[in-house]
Amino acid sequence: MTETARVHQPLTAGRRITILGATGSVGASTLDLIAHLRKGQPDAYEIEALTGFQNTIVLARCARAAGAKLAVIGEPEKYRELKDALAGTGIEAAAGPDALLEAAARPADWVMAAIVGTAGLRPAMAALRPGTTLALANKECLVSAGDVFMRAVAEAGVQLLPVDSEHNAIFQVFEEPNRSAVDRLILTASGGPFRLWDRERMAKATPEQAVAHPNWSMGAKISVDSATLMNKGLELIEAHYLFDMPAERLEVLIHPQSVIHSLVAYVDGSVLAQLGTPDMRTPIAFALGYPERIAAPAERLDLVRIGQLTFEAPDFQRFPCLGLAVAALKQGRGTPTILNAANEVAVGAFLERRIGFGAIAGLVEATLMAAERAGLTGKPGSLVDVLERDRWARETAGTMLTEGRTP
Ligand code: NDP
Ligand code: MG
Repeated sequence: MTETARVHQPLTAGRRITILGATGSVGASTLDLIAHLRKGQPDAYEIEALTGFQNTIVLARCARAAGAKLAVIGEPEKYRELKDALAGTGIEAAAGPDALLEAAARPADWVMAAIVGTAGLRPAMAALRPGTTLALANKECLVSAGDVFMRAVAEAGVQLLPVDSEHNAIFQVFEEPNRSAVDRLILTASGGPFRLWDRERMAKATPEQAVAHPNWSMGAKISVDSATLMNKGLELIEAHYLFDMPAERLEVLIHPQSVIHSLVAYVDGSVLAQLGTPDMRTPIAFALGYPERIAAPAERLDLVRIGQLTFEAPDFQRFPCLGLAVAALKQGRGTPTILNAANEVAVGAFLERRIGFGAIAGLVEATLMAAERAGLTGKPGSLVDVLERDRWARETAGTMLTEGRTP
Protein backbone atom coordinates (compact mmCIF):
# COMPACT_ATOMS: atom_id res chain seq x y z
CA MET A 1 0.00 0.00 0.00
CA THR A 2 2.95 2.35 0.43
CA GLU A 3 4.75 3.08 -2.86
CA THR A 4 2.30 1.77 -5.43
CA ALA A 5 -0.70 3.46 -3.81
CA ARG A 6 0.68 6.86 -4.71
CA VAL A 7 0.72 6.29 -8.46
CA HIS A 8 -2.04 8.56 -9.72
CA GLN A 9 -4.28 7.62 -12.58
CA PRO A 10 -6.50 10.52 -13.62
CA LEU A 11 -10.15 9.88 -14.35
CA THR A 12 -10.41 9.73 -18.13
CA ALA A 13 -13.22 8.90 -20.51
CA GLY A 14 -13.64 5.27 -21.43
CA ARG A 15 -11.95 3.66 -18.46
CA ARG A 16 -12.14 -0.09 -18.87
CA ILE A 17 -13.73 -1.76 -15.87
CA THR A 18 -13.85 -5.42 -14.85
CA ILE A 19 -15.91 -6.64 -11.91
CA LEU A 20 -15.01 -10.01 -10.41
CA GLY A 21 -18.02 -11.12 -8.36
CA ALA A 22 -20.45 -8.85 -10.23
CA THR A 23 -23.51 -10.83 -9.10
CA GLY A 24 -22.85 -10.28 -5.39
CA SER A 25 -23.58 -7.46 -2.98
CA VAL A 26 -20.40 -5.42 -3.65
CA GLY A 27 -20.72 -6.23 -7.36
CA ALA A 28 -24.26 -4.83 -7.37
CA SER A 29 -23.18 -1.67 -5.55
CA THR A 30 -20.36 -1.18 -8.06
CA LEU A 31 -22.67 -1.63 -11.05
CA ASP A 32 -25.26 0.65 -9.49
CA LEU A 33 -22.65 3.36 -8.94
CA ILE A 34 -21.39 3.06 -12.52
CA ALA A 35 -24.95 3.21 -13.91
CA HIS A 36 -25.47 6.37 -11.86
CA LEU A 37 -22.22 7.95 -13.11
CA ARG A 38 -23.03 7.08 -16.71
CA LYS A 39 -26.19 9.20 -16.52
CA GLY A 40 -23.99 12.29 -16.36
CA GLN A 41 -21.14 10.98 -18.52
CA PRO A 42 -22.29 8.13 -20.78
CA ASP A 43 -18.83 7.37 -22.19
CA ALA A 44 -16.93 7.45 -18.91
CA TYR A 45 -16.74 3.69 -18.41
CA GLU A 46 -16.54 0.64 -20.63
CA ILE A 47 -17.40 -2.65 -19.00
CA GLU A 48 -14.78 -5.14 -20.07
CA ALA A 49 -15.80 -8.25 -18.10
CA LEU A 50 -18.27 -9.27 -15.41
CA THR A 51 -18.08 -12.56 -13.51
CA GLY A 52 -20.39 -14.65 -11.34
CA PHE A 53 -20.27 -18.18 -9.99
CA GLN A 54 -23.64 -19.89 -10.38
CA ASN A 55 -26.16 -17.09 -10.76
CA THR A 56 -26.45 -17.08 -14.55
CA ILE A 57 -29.69 -15.10 -14.67
CA VAL A 58 -28.35 -12.20 -12.64
CA LEU A 59 -25.02 -12.26 -14.48
CA ALA A 60 -26.73 -12.10 -17.88
CA ARG A 61 -29.02 -9.31 -16.68
CA CYS A 62 -26.06 -7.29 -15.35
CA ALA A 63 -24.01 -7.88 -18.52
CA ARG A 64 -26.88 -6.70 -20.73
CA ALA A 65 -27.65 -3.65 -18.59
CA ALA A 66 -24.00 -2.61 -18.38
CA GLY A 67 -23.15 -3.44 -22.01
CA ALA A 68 -20.29 -5.74 -20.94
CA LYS A 69 -17.98 -7.21 -23.56
CA LEU A 70 -17.57 -10.51 -21.70
CA ALA A 71 -19.56 -12.41 -19.06
CA VAL A 72 -18.02 -15.39 -17.27
CA ILE A 73 -19.75 -17.86 -14.98
CA GLY A 74 -17.57 -19.92 -12.62
CA GLU A 75 -19.58 -23.16 -12.80
CA PRO A 76 -18.56 -24.85 -16.10
CA GLU A 77 -21.92 -26.61 -16.56
CA LYS A 78 -23.71 -23.24 -16.63
CA TYR A 79 -22.10 -22.27 -19.94
CA ARG A 80 -25.08 -23.17 -22.15
CA GLU A 81 -27.53 -21.36 -19.88
CA LEU A 82 -25.38 -18.22 -19.94
CA LYS A 83 -24.85 -18.40 -23.70
CA ASP A 84 -28.62 -18.69 -24.24
CA ALA A 85 -29.35 -15.85 -21.84
CA LEU A 86 -26.96 -13.62 -23.82
CA ALA A 87 -28.13 -14.70 -27.27
CA GLY A 88 -28.34 -11.82 -29.74
CA THR A 89 -26.51 -9.34 -27.51
CA GLY A 90 -23.01 -9.75 -28.93
CA ILE A 91 -21.73 -10.25 -25.38
CA GLU A 92 -19.13 -13.01 -25.26
CA ALA A 93 -19.92 -15.84 -22.82
CA ALA A 94 -17.45 -18.15 -21.07
CA ALA A 95 -17.48 -20.54 -18.12
CA GLY A 96 -15.18 -22.35 -15.71
CA PRO A 97 -12.22 -21.52 -13.48
CA ASP A 98 -9.76 -20.86 -16.32
CA ALA A 99 -12.22 -18.51 -18.00
CA LEU A 100 -12.48 -16.60 -14.70
CA LEU A 101 -8.72 -16.16 -14.65
CA GLU A 102 -8.69 -15.07 -18.29
CA ALA A 103 -11.41 -12.50 -17.57
CA ALA A 104 -9.41 -11.18 -14.63
CA ALA A 105 -6.23 -10.94 -16.71
CA ARG A 106 -7.90 -9.16 -19.63
CA PRO A 107 -6.47 -5.64 -19.99
CA ALA A 108 -8.51 -3.23 -17.86
CA ASP A 109 -7.85 0.06 -16.12
CA TRP A 110 -9.79 -0.76 -12.95
CA VAL A 111 -10.68 -4.16 -11.57
CA MET A 112 -13.04 -4.70 -8.65
CA ALA A 113 -12.12 -7.87 -6.71
CA ALA A 114 -15.45 -8.77 -5.07
CA ILE A 115 -15.54 -12.56 -5.15
CA VAL A 116 -16.21 -13.97 -1.68
CA GLY A 117 -13.60 -16.12 0.06
CA THR A 118 -10.31 -17.64 -1.01
CA ALA A 119 -12.04 -18.56 -4.28
CA GLY A 120 -11.23 -14.97 -5.25
CA LEU A 121 -7.50 -15.25 -4.62
CA ARG A 122 -6.32 -16.61 -7.97
CA PRO A 123 -8.59 -14.27 -9.99
CA ALA A 124 -7.37 -11.27 -7.95
CA MET A 125 -3.76 -12.34 -8.51
CA ALA A 126 -4.46 -12.73 -12.24
CA ALA A 127 -5.72 -9.14 -12.30
CA LEU A 128 -2.35 -7.83 -11.09
CA ARG A 129 -1.07 -6.31 -14.31
CA PRO A 130 0.99 -3.12 -14.72
CA GLY A 131 -1.27 -0.11 -15.20
CA THR A 132 -4.29 -1.68 -13.54
CA THR A 133 -5.86 -0.35 -10.37
CA LEU A 134 -7.14 -3.13 -8.15
CA ALA A 135 -10.07 -2.16 -5.92
CA LEU A 136 -10.00 -4.84 -3.24
CA ALA A 137 -13.16 -5.88 -1.41
CA ASN A 138 -12.22 -9.57 -1.17
CA LYS A 139 -10.48 -9.45 2.23
CA GLU A 140 -9.96 -13.22 2.36
CA CYS A 141 -7.26 -12.74 -0.35
CA LEU A 142 -5.14 -10.77 2.04
CA VAL A 143 -5.91 -12.85 5.11
CA SER A 144 -5.04 -16.05 3.31
CA ALA A 145 -2.10 -14.93 1.22
CA GLY A 146 -0.94 -11.68 2.95
CA ASP A 147 2.77 -11.43 2.14
CA VAL A 148 2.52 -13.39 -1.11
CA PHE A 149 -0.30 -11.15 -2.32
CA MET A 150 1.35 -7.86 -1.29
CA ARG A 151 4.60 -8.93 -2.92
CA ALA A 152 2.78 -9.69 -6.18
CA VAL A 153 1.04 -6.28 -6.02
CA ALA A 154 4.39 -4.53 -5.59
CA GLU A 155 6.07 -6.57 -8.33
CA ALA A 156 3.27 -5.83 -10.80
CA GLY A 157 3.34 -2.10 -9.96
CA VAL A 158 -0.38 -2.21 -9.38
CA GLN A 159 -2.24 0.45 -7.48
CA LEU A 160 -4.13 -1.32 -4.71
CA LEU A 161 -7.07 0.55 -3.19
CA PRO A 162 -8.99 -0.87 -0.23
CA VAL A 163 -12.77 -1.04 -0.62
CA ASP A 164 -13.61 -2.69 2.70
CA SER A 165 -15.18 0.32 4.44
CA GLU A 166 -12.85 0.33 7.47
CA HIS A 167 -9.69 0.11 5.38
CA ASN A 168 -11.01 2.61 2.90
CA ALA A 169 -11.66 4.96 5.83
CA ILE A 170 -8.13 4.44 7.18
CA PHE A 171 -6.64 4.94 3.70
CA GLN A 172 -8.49 8.27 3.48
CA VAL A 173 -6.97 9.62 6.72
CA PHE A 174 -3.61 7.82 6.76
CA GLU A 175 -0.85 10.39 6.26
CA GLU A 176 1.67 8.33 4.35
CA PRO A 177 4.47 10.95 4.70
CA ASN A 178 3.88 10.85 8.49
CA ARG A 179 3.80 7.06 8.66
CA SER A 180 6.23 7.01 11.62
CA ALA A 181 3.83 9.30 13.53
CA VAL A 182 0.95 6.83 13.29
CA ASP A 183 0.35 5.43 16.75
CA ARG A 184 -2.64 3.12 16.18
CA LEU A 185 -5.25 2.14 13.64
CA ILE A 186 -8.68 1.77 15.23
CA LEU A 187 -11.15 -0.36 13.29
CA THR A 188 -14.77 0.20 14.18
CA ALA A 189 -17.34 -2.62 14.27
CA SER A 190 -21.09 -2.38 14.63
CA GLY A 191 -21.06 -5.41 16.93
CA GLY A 192 -23.41 -7.27 14.57
CA PRO A 193 -26.90 -8.61 15.26
CA PHE A 194 -25.88 -10.42 18.50
CA ARG A 195 -24.09 -7.53 20.18
CA LEU A 196 -26.42 -7.70 23.17
CA TRP A 197 -27.10 -11.46 23.20
CA ASP A 198 -25.68 -13.80 25.86
CA ARG A 199 -23.65 -16.87 24.83
CA GLU A 200 -26.45 -19.38 25.47
CA ARG A 201 -28.88 -17.50 23.24
CA MET A 202 -26.22 -16.97 20.58
CA ALA A 203 -25.36 -20.68 20.51
CA LYS A 204 -28.89 -21.36 19.21
CA ALA A 205 -29.01 -18.51 16.68
CA THR A 206 -30.34 -19.43 13.23
CA PRO A 207 -28.76 -18.47 9.89
CA GLU A 208 -31.68 -16.06 9.32
CA GLN A 209 -30.90 -14.26 12.58
CA ALA A 210 -27.17 -14.24 11.89
CA VAL A 211 -27.44 -12.67 8.41
CA ALA A 212 -29.78 -9.91 9.60
CA HIS A 213 -27.09 -7.25 10.00
CA PRO A 214 -28.33 -4.14 11.80
CA ASN A 215 -26.70 -1.56 9.48
CA TRP A 216 -25.22 -3.08 6.31
CA SER A 217 -26.79 -5.19 3.58
CA MET A 218 -24.17 -7.77 2.51
CA GLY A 219 -23.60 -11.31 1.26
CA ALA A 220 -24.31 -14.27 3.57
CA LYS A 221 -20.71 -15.17 4.44
CA ILE A 222 -19.58 -11.72 5.54
CA SER A 223 -22.88 -11.26 7.40
CA VAL A 224 -22.22 -14.39 9.48
CA ASP A 225 -18.62 -13.21 10.00
CA SER A 226 -20.02 -9.93 11.28
CA ALA A 227 -22.24 -11.81 13.73
CA THR A 228 -19.30 -13.85 15.14
CA LEU A 229 -16.98 -10.80 14.92
CA MET A 230 -14.61 -12.97 12.85
CA ASN A 231 -15.11 -10.28 10.22
CA LYS A 232 -13.38 -7.75 12.46
CA GLY A 233 -10.61 -10.26 13.15
CA LEU A 234 -10.12 -10.82 9.41
CA GLU A 235 -10.09 -7.05 8.99
CA LEU A 236 -7.31 -6.65 11.60
CA ILE A 237 -5.22 -9.07 9.53
CA GLU A 238 -6.22 -7.22 6.35
CA ALA A 239 -5.13 -3.90 7.94
CA HIS A 240 -1.83 -5.44 9.05
CA TYR A 241 -0.93 -6.26 5.45
CA LEU A 242 -2.44 -3.21 3.76
CA PHE A 243 -0.87 -0.63 6.05
CA ASP A 244 2.17 -2.59 7.24
CA MET A 245 1.16 -2.17 10.89
CA PRO A 246 2.10 -4.60 13.68
CA ALA A 247 -0.63 -6.34 15.68
CA GLU A 248 -0.03 -4.21 18.79
CA ARG A 249 -0.93 -1.05 16.86
CA LEU A 250 -4.28 -2.37 15.67
CA GLU A 251 -7.44 -2.03 17.76
CA VAL A 252 -11.14 -2.81 17.53
CA LEU A 253 -13.80 -0.43 18.79
CA ILE A 254 -17.47 -1.35 18.89
CA HIS A 255 -19.55 1.50 17.47
CA PRO A 256 -23.14 0.34 16.92
CA GLN A 257 -24.24 3.22 14.64
CA SER A 258 -21.62 2.44 11.91
CA VAL A 259 -21.13 6.16 11.22
CA ILE A 260 -17.40 6.36 11.96
CA HIS A 261 -15.89 3.84 9.57
CA SER A 262 -12.47 3.74 11.27
CA LEU A 263 -9.82 5.98 12.80
CA VAL A 264 -6.09 6.68 12.73
CA ALA A 265 -4.46 7.86 15.96
CA TYR A 266 -1.24 9.89 15.69
CA VAL A 267 1.53 10.37 18.26
CA ASP A 268 0.56 14.00 18.89
CA GLY A 269 -2.81 12.85 20.23
CA SER A 270 -4.79 13.70 17.09
CA VAL A 271 -7.24 11.07 15.94
CA LEU A 272 -8.52 11.33 12.34
CA ALA A 273 -11.63 9.50 11.21
CA GLN A 274 -13.77 9.05 8.11
CA LEU A 275 -17.55 9.22 8.59
CA GLY A 276 -20.49 8.45 6.33
CA THR A 277 -23.73 6.55 5.98
CA PRO A 278 -23.30 2.76 5.76
CA ASP A 279 -23.37 2.49 1.96
CA MET A 280 -20.65 0.65 0.04
CA ARG A 281 -21.10 2.99 -2.92
CA THR A 282 -19.07 5.60 -0.97
CA PRO A 283 -15.84 3.56 -0.57
CA ILE A 284 -16.32 2.15 -4.08
CA ALA A 285 -16.65 5.70 -5.47
CA PHE A 286 -13.51 6.68 -3.60
CA ALA A 287 -11.61 3.79 -5.20
CA LEU A 288 -13.09 4.47 -8.63
CA GLY A 289 -12.32 8.18 -8.64
CA TYR A 290 -9.02 8.14 -6.78
CA PRO A 291 -7.14 10.45 -6.58
CA GLU A 292 -10.13 12.62 -7.46
CA ARG A 293 -13.44 12.48 -5.61
CA ILE A 294 -16.54 11.64 -7.59
CA ALA A 295 -20.20 12.01 -6.63
CA ALA A 296 -21.87 8.90 -5.22
CA PRO A 297 -25.63 8.50 -4.71
CA ALA A 298 -25.26 7.43 -1.06
CA GLU A 299 -27.57 9.07 1.46
CA ARG A 300 -25.94 12.13 3.03
CA LEU A 301 -24.86 11.87 6.64
CA ASP A 302 -27.24 13.70 8.98
CA LEU A 303 -25.61 13.77 12.41
CA VAL A 304 -28.43 15.76 13.99
CA ARG A 305 -30.90 13.05 13.04
CA ILE A 306 -28.54 10.33 14.32
CA GLY A 307 -28.10 12.34 17.53
CA GLN A 308 -25.71 10.07 19.39
CA LEU A 309 -22.63 8.06 18.59
CA THR A 310 -21.72 5.40 21.14
CA PHE A 311 -18.70 3.18 21.72
CA GLU A 312 -17.90 -0.04 23.60
CA ALA A 313 -14.93 -2.35 24.05
CA PRO A 314 -15.21 -5.68 22.18
CA ASP A 315 -16.22 -8.68 24.31
CA PHE A 316 -13.72 -11.48 23.64
CA GLN A 317 -15.64 -13.91 25.90
CA ARG A 318 -18.88 -13.84 23.95
CA PHE A 319 -17.13 -13.51 20.59
CA PRO A 320 -14.28 -16.07 20.67
CA CYS A 321 -13.70 -15.80 16.89
CA LEU A 322 -12.25 -12.33 17.42
CA GLY A 323 -9.70 -13.74 19.88
CA LEU A 324 -8.78 -16.55 17.48
CA ALA A 325 -8.14 -14.03 14.70
CA VAL A 326 -6.06 -11.77 16.96
CA ALA A 327 -3.98 -14.79 18.03
CA ALA A 328 -3.52 -15.79 14.36
CA LEU A 329 -2.46 -12.23 13.52
CA LYS A 330 0.10 -12.24 16.34
CA GLN A 331 1.37 -15.68 15.42
CA GLY A 332 1.52 -14.65 11.76
CA ARG A 333 3.30 -16.90 9.26
CA GLY A 334 0.80 -19.44 7.90
CA THR A 335 -1.72 -19.24 10.71
CA PRO A 336 -4.08 -16.72 9.08
CA THR A 337 -4.29 -18.99 5.99
CA ILE A 338 -5.56 -21.84 8.17
CA LEU A 339 -7.87 -19.57 10.20
CA ASN A 340 -9.46 -18.21 7.06
CA ALA A 341 -10.01 -21.58 5.37
CA ALA A 342 -11.42 -23.20 8.54
CA ASN A 343 -13.74 -20.24 9.02
CA GLU A 344 -15.06 -20.54 5.46
CA VAL A 345 -15.86 -24.21 6.08
CA ALA A 346 -17.46 -23.47 9.46
CA VAL A 347 -19.59 -20.61 8.13
CA GLY A 348 -20.69 -22.74 5.16
CA ALA A 349 -21.68 -25.56 7.53
CA PHE A 350 -23.61 -23.14 9.74
CA LEU A 351 -25.48 -21.70 6.75
CA GLU A 352 -26.36 -25.28 5.71
CA ARG A 353 -27.56 -25.92 9.29
CA ARG A 354 -24.99 -28.66 9.84
CA ILE A 355 -23.57 -26.96 12.93
CA GLY A 356 -24.90 -24.39 15.37
CA PHE A 357 -23.70 -20.80 15.56
CA GLY A 358 -21.86 -21.58 18.78
CA ALA A 359 -19.78 -24.32 17.07
CA ILE A 360 -18.17 -22.01 14.47
CA ALA A 361 -15.35 -20.85 16.76
CA GLY A 362 -14.73 -24.39 18.03
CA LEU A 363 -14.27 -25.80 14.53
CA VAL A 364 -11.87 -23.00 13.60
CA GLU A 365 -9.88 -23.51 16.80
CA ALA A 366 -9.72 -27.30 16.36
CA THR A 367 -8.43 -26.86 12.78
CA LEU A 368 -5.81 -24.36 13.96
CA MET A 369 -4.63 -26.84 16.61
CA ALA A 370 -4.47 -29.66 14.05
CA ALA A 371 -2.39 -27.43 11.73
CA GLU A 372 -0.02 -26.65 14.58
CA ARG A 373 0.40 -30.39 15.30
CA ALA A 374 0.94 -31.10 11.60
CA GLY A 375 3.62 -28.38 11.40
CA LEU A 376 1.65 -26.43 8.79
CA THR A 377 1.71 -22.98 10.32
CA GLY A 378 5.10 -21.96 8.87
CA LYS A 379 5.28 -19.03 6.48
CA PRO A 380 3.94 -19.83 2.98
CA GLY A 381 6.51 -18.75 0.41
CA SER A 382 4.35 -18.84 -2.70
CA LEU A 383 0.80 -18.92 -3.98
CA VAL A 384 1.12 -22.69 -4.39
CA ASP A 385 2.05 -22.97 -0.69
CA VAL A 386 -0.94 -20.85 0.32
CA LEU A 387 -3.37 -22.87 -1.79
CA GLU A 388 -1.95 -26.15 -0.46
CA ARG A 389 -2.47 -25.07 3.16
CA ASP A 390 -5.90 -23.69 2.33
CA ARG A 391 -6.84 -27.07 0.81
CA TRP A 392 -5.43 -28.97 3.81
CA ALA A 393 -7.36 -26.81 6.29
CA ARG A 394 -10.62 -27.22 4.34
CA GLU A 395 -10.17 -30.97 4.18
CA THR A 396 -9.28 -31.22 7.87
CA ALA A 397 -12.22 -29.06 8.97
CA GLY A 398 -14.49 -30.95 6.56
CA THR A 399 -13.42 -34.31 8.00
CA MET A 400 -14.09 -33.10 11.54
CA LEU A 401 -17.53 -32.05 10.37
CA THR A 402 -18.46 -35.31 8.65
CA GLU A 403 -17.10 -37.40 11.52
CA GLY A 404 -19.11 -35.29 13.94
CA ARG A 405 -15.91 -34.29 15.75
CA THR A 406 -16.94 -30.65 15.98
CA PRO A 407 -16.33 -29.28 19.45
P1 NDP B 1 -21.73 -12.07 -2.10
O1 NDP B 1 -21.90 -13.41 -1.52
O2 NDP B 1 -22.88 -11.15 -2.15
O3 NDP B 1 -21.12 -12.20 -3.58
C1 NDP B 1 -20.04 -13.03 -3.84
C2 NDP B 1 -19.67 -13.01 -5.29
O4 NDP B 1 -18.64 -14.00 -5.51
C3 NDP B 1 -20.80 -13.38 -6.24
O5 NDP B 1 -20.62 -12.72 -7.46
C4 NDP B 1 -20.61 -14.89 -6.40
O6 NDP B 1 -21.23 -15.41 -7.58
C5 NDP B 1 -19.11 -14.95 -6.47
N1 NDP B 1 -18.58 -16.27 -6.08
C6 NDP B 1 -18.96 -17.04 -5.04
N2 NDP B 1 -18.24 -18.17 -5.00
C7 NDP B 1 -17.39 -18.12 -6.05
C8 NDP B 1 -16.40 -19.01 -6.57
N3 NDP B 1 -16.15 -20.20 -5.99
N4 NDP B 1 -15.72 -18.65 -7.67
C9 NDP B 1 -15.96 -17.46 -8.28
N5 NDP B 1 -16.89 -16.58 -7.84
C10 NDP B 1 -17.59 -16.90 -6.73
O7 NDP B 1 -20.51 -11.39 -1.29
P2 NDP B 1 -20.27 -9.85 -0.96
O8 NDP B 1 -20.47 -9.02 -2.17
O9 NDP B 1 -20.99 -9.49 0.28
O10 NDP B 1 -18.73 -9.87 -0.57
C11 NDP B 1 -17.71 -10.02 -1.54
C12 NDP B 1 -16.37 -9.78 -0.87
O11 NDP B 1 -16.31 -8.43 -0.44
C13 NDP B 1 -16.14 -10.62 0.38
O12 NDP B 1 -14.79 -10.96 0.46
C14 NDP B 1 -16.51 -9.69 1.53
O13 NDP B 1 -15.82 -9.98 2.71
C15 NDP B 1 -16.06 -8.35 0.96
N6 NDP B 1 -16.79 -7.20 1.50
C16 NDP B 1 -18.14 -7.11 1.34
C17 NDP B 1 -18.84 -6.03 1.83
C18 NDP B 1 -20.32 -5.89 1.61
O14 NDP B 1 -20.88 -4.85 1.94
N7 NDP B 1 -21.00 -6.87 1.06
C19 NDP B 1 -18.15 -4.98 2.59
C20 NDP B 1 -16.74 -5.16 2.68
C21 NDP B 1 -16.09 -6.23 2.15
P3 NDP B 1 -22.77 -15.97 -7.53
O15 NDP B 1 -23.62 -14.83 -7.10
O16 NDP B 1 -23.04 -16.37 -8.94
O17 NDP B 1 -22.76 -17.10 -6.56
MG1 MG C 1 -15.59 -4.06 6.64
